[in-house]
Amino acid sequence: MAIQSINPVNGKIIKSYKEDTAGKCAQKIALAEKAWLTWRRTSFEKRAQHLLKAASLLRARKEALAKLMALEMGKPLRDGAGEIEKCARVCEYYAKNGAALLKDELVKTDAKKSFITLQPIGIVLAVMPWNFPYWQSFRFIAPGLMAGNVGLLKHASNVPGCALSIEKILLDAGFPKGVFQTLLIGSKRVPQVIEHPSVKAVTLTGSTEAGSRVAERAGALIKKTVLELGGSDPYIVLEDADLELATTICAQSRLINNGQSCIAAKRFIVVRKVEKEFVKLFKEKMSNKRLGDPIMPQTELGPMSRADLRDELHRQVLKNIKDGATCILGGNIPDFKGNHAFYSPTILTGVKKGMTGYSEELFGPVACVITARNEAHAIEIANDTSFGLGAAVFTKDILKGERIAREELQAGACFVNTFVKSDPRVPFGGVKQSGYGRELGSYGIKEFVNIKTVWR
Ligand code: NDP
Repeated sequence: MAIQSINPVNGKIIKSYKEDTAGKCAQKIALAEKAWLTWRRTSFEKRAQHLLKAASLLRARKEALAKLMALEMGKPLRDGAGEIEKCARVCEYYAKNGAALLKDELVKTDAKKSFITLQPIGIVLAVMPWNFPYWQSFRFIAPGLMAGNVGLLKHASNVPGCALSIEKILLDAGFPKGVFQTLLIGSKRVPQVIEHPSVKAVTLTGSTEAGSRVAERAGALIKKTVLELGGSDPYIVLEDADLELATTICAQSRLINNGQSCIAAKRFIVVRKVEKEFVKLFKEKMSNKRLGDPIMPQTELGPMSRADLRDELHRQVLKNIKDGATCILGGNIPDFKGNHAFYSPTILTGVKKGMTGYSEELFGPVACVITARNEAHAIEIANDTSFGLGAAVFTKDILKGERIAREELQAGACFVNTFVKSDPRVPFGGVKQSGYGRELGSYGIKEFVNIKTVWR
C-alpha cells in the first residue's frame, strides 16, 4: 500500500511513497542492531559532535523544512521555522549536558567500590504524530542517541516527507548508517516491529487509543514504553487574574498549531465574577488571526492537518451545541475552494459536565468556556477529567498560583500566568490517561537506559 502526503489546503496528493515491505523492515532492523554494537561504544564527545552538526544542518535547512511541514500538515511557515529552531536547541542541549546527566554515580556501601552506571539498551522504536513532525521526533532523538541507543522512527502516515528528511539530516550530520532510520509503514505494521527481539522499547506520542494498543503489545513482551498521549489542559482564570494577560495567553495557547497540540489550552475554567469580561476580551483575541494558505508568509492560522480530523472536530462542536452550549464564535467550516481541512476559530460558552467539550479532547481551534463558582470549584472542574498533561492558573497572587500548581492540579506540567510549553531543560509528560514516563530534562534521557549497579 502507498503512503501519501496530501496537502490539507486543497486535498491534492503531493507525493506517494511505497510502503516498506516486511523484508525491508527486517533489513532495517538488522542494520540498526549492527549499528548499535558500535554506537554503544562511541564516546559522548563523538555523539555530541554529531548532534551539534545536526543542529547546524537543521538551521541551514530551516526554510525548506518549514515549507515541507506547510505542505504536508498545514503549519504556517513562521511557526515551522520556530519548530526547527527548537529542534536545533534540543540537539545542542543534550550535546552539552548529556555526558553529565549520564555519568556514573559512586555509592558508598560495604563493597570496595560500588557505583551506578547508565548503559544504553539498543533499538528504541519511536511512533510519532504529525502535529509537530520534527519537534516530537527530535525530542526523542537527541537524548536517545546521546545515551547510546539507536532509533527507528515510524512517523504518522501523512508526513512521510518530513520523516525521510529527518533520516537525511542525521546521516548528513555524520551519524553512522543504521543509528537512525525511518520505517515507511502504516500503524497496522507496528506490532510486528515491537515483536522483533532486537527492538527493546517503544516511545509513542499520539492518541490514548494508539498508546493503549502499543503498550498492550509491548507489555505482553515485557518491553518498556513511554507514552505521551492526549490532553484536555484546563486554564483556570481566578477572580484576581490580569484578564488582559490571561486572555492573550489563553488565545495564543488555544490556537497554537491551529489547536492541534496535546498541551494546547482546551478548557477555560473561569470564575463567574469575571466571566463576562473574560469572554469579551477572549473573543477579540480569538478572532484576529489571519486564516489562509500556510505557504503564504502573512498566514497566521493554516488548515487542520487532515480533513477527517476536521470533520470529527466539527461533529464534536455540533454535539456540544445540541447539548446546550452556546457558540459565540466560529463553529463552521469556512467556505474556501477545494477539498480543504480548514476550520474557523471557535468559542463555546456554557459548557457543562456531560458535554463532550467538558470530557473529551477537542483537537483543533475550539475553546470551551466552563463557569466555576469560586477557586475551589475551578480546581475541582480542572481535575474532573481523565487527562493530566498540562494545566495553567491565572492569578495576581503568585504564591497562591504556585500552591495551586504544586499541590492541587493533577497534571504533569503546571504553569502560573503563562502557557504550558515543553523545554529541553525540564521533564515533559503526563499523569492519568495522558500517559506515563517523561521526555526531556534529566529524567527524559534516563528512560531508555539500563540503570546498572556494579559492585566489587
Ligand atoms: P494517532 O494516535 O492515531 O496517530 C499517532 C501515531 O500513532 C501515528 O504515527 C499513527 O500511525 C500511530 N498509530 C495509530 N494507531 C496505532 C496503533 N494502533 N498501533 C500503533 N501505532 C498507531 O492520531 P491521529 O492522527 O489519528 O489523531 C487522532 C487524535 O489523536 C487527535 O485528534 C488527537 O486527539 C490525538 N493526537 C494527539 C497527539 C499528541 O500530541 N498527544 C498528536 C496527534 C494526535 P498512522 O498515522 O500510520 O495511523
